Amino acid sequence: MTEPLPAGDFLSGLEAIVGAQHLLTDTAAMAPFLTDWRGRFTGSARAVVLPLDTGEVARVVAACAAARVPIVPQGGRTGLVLGSVPDASGAAIVLSLRRLNRIRQIDAANRTMTVEAGCILADIQGAAHQAGMLFPLSLAAEGSCTIGGNLSTNAGGTAVLRYGNTRELCLGLEVVTATGQVWDGLRGLRKDNTGYALRELFIGAEGTLGVITAAVLKLYPQPKAALTALVALESPRSALALLGLMQERCGAALTGYELMSDFCLRLVASQFPALPRPFAAHYPQYALVELSSNESEDHAADLVESAVGAALDSGIALDAVLATSSSQALGLWKLREHIPLAQAAAGKNIKHDISLPVSSIPEFIERTDALLQAAFPGCQVVCFGHLGDGNLHYNVAPPPAVGHEDFLAHQDVVNRIVHDSVAAFRGSISAEHGVGALKRDELPRYKGAVEVDMMRAVKAALDPLGIMNPGKIL
Ligand code: FAD
Repeated sequence: MTEPLPAGDFLSGLEAIVGAQHLLTDTAAMAPFLTDWRGRFTGSARAVVLPLDTGEVARVVAACAAARVPIVPQGGRTGLVLGSVPDASGAAIVLSLRRLNRIRQIDAANRTMTVEAGCILADIQGAAHQAGMLFPLSLAAEGSCTIGGNLSTNAGGTAVLRYGNTRELCLGLEVVTATGQVWDGLRGLRKDNTGYALRELFIGAEGTLGVITAAVLKLYPQPKAALTALVALESPRSALALLGLMQERCGAALTGYELMSDFCLRLVASQFPALPRPFAAHYPQYALVELSSNESEDHAADLVESAVGAALDSGIALDAVLATSSSQALGLWKLREHIPLAQAAAGKNIKHDISLPVSSIPEFIERTDALLQAAFPGCQVVCFGHLGDGNLHYNVAPPPAVGHEDFLAHQDVVNRIVHDSVAAFRGSISAEHGVGALKRDELPRYKGAVEVDMMRAVKAALDPLGIMNPGKIL
């Protein structure tokens, strides 16, 4: 697709737009932008370009369109599917949005804030908090990821059960199109039925349709109190029963519901011995439950105590601890957040970020565990995730006697077993991380021809030159 240009002409054009300081072509200077978060892949680029504002982004994209140069938009580079790094060809530029980091406006009465794409998620949460409100998107990468990346991957995180994915938290977008035009869709409206929902196309598009430069986000009242409990359970079936009970009794106050197996917590304990061990005994499964109250701490405590009490009385729950301080709550959440870190420290494994109807999760786990044991006796499944929204991180580590690298050689077979099982339950092979380059080749098998053709038609209409993040998703 790309005819190589006289490199000097193209690059000096970009330099005229962003300034020499913000156009990186030196290998060492570009290096931090070229390797993915997990360190699995390092690509190559003509340049890394760091524009200051929407106008500069538009001019950079127009220059790339004129020269047919592919663009890889990049935020915090915390994506987990190789979406924000270029391929090895060296044909593309990396367009880093990190200098577009202004909070443009907070409209307290409309409960919205307008932010630029390169704002770090934690800074947005902080600005909302300072204004006396809540921006509820929360994930372990929040200190590094950007809202542009969150929108482009439609990130989920720990509060989806109550507030939805990033898509549900966004009312308007500003986008630089693939031809370098600026679409000003920065509307803070909760109702707007004026034709095709263009905003929805750019959210979750992983930079393949255009560049998000700003967004209008929804804000919520700050809860007066939040309480966290860890509940010990016999099985995923009891976890599902407890979820139903909590939803019935607590309604919208239930903001988080995470499942962790005992194997996950043993892994965390072995890698991070300083973290708390809430129970003296081991139980097969645990649910980490978070409740928020807009009334008071007492109200939150009453809700959680009566719901967990009912679960213990009825035998759904085996044991429970309730955090009595914010530092104890943080300690419980740390157990959950350290599972991926403990896994990484223990060695490479084969990861799956899958989504299923919540009701199917126990049967999915039983059936898929059995299929994997039949194919790879002794393999170890690290299963945890956002059970409340049907999202599991279902990762497969080698049997104790098998080396991690040797096991990775079976990645395709393991993926086929897990993904076919997901499809049998009408689930999705990517719940929240996206497709990127990592799952691109899996997509046609599970989407079907009609859906893939419609996606290709959208791509061709919005990115006719095929320069936006080529090789990702499709
Ligand atoms: P990047 O990695 O830079 O980019 C991601 C994709 O978006 C790429 O395809 C890129 O081209 C595109 N993109 C970036 N910015 C723009 C833009 N302005 N316009 C157009 N395209 C753009 N995800 C979850 O959903 N839930 C979790 O709980 C979660 N936990 C995580 C925990 C850790 C420790 C890590 C490392 C990642 C986690 N993630 C999670 C992955 C998640 O996708 C990212 O953290 C985040 O959403 C990506 O933001 P980013 O700014 O780093 O984007």
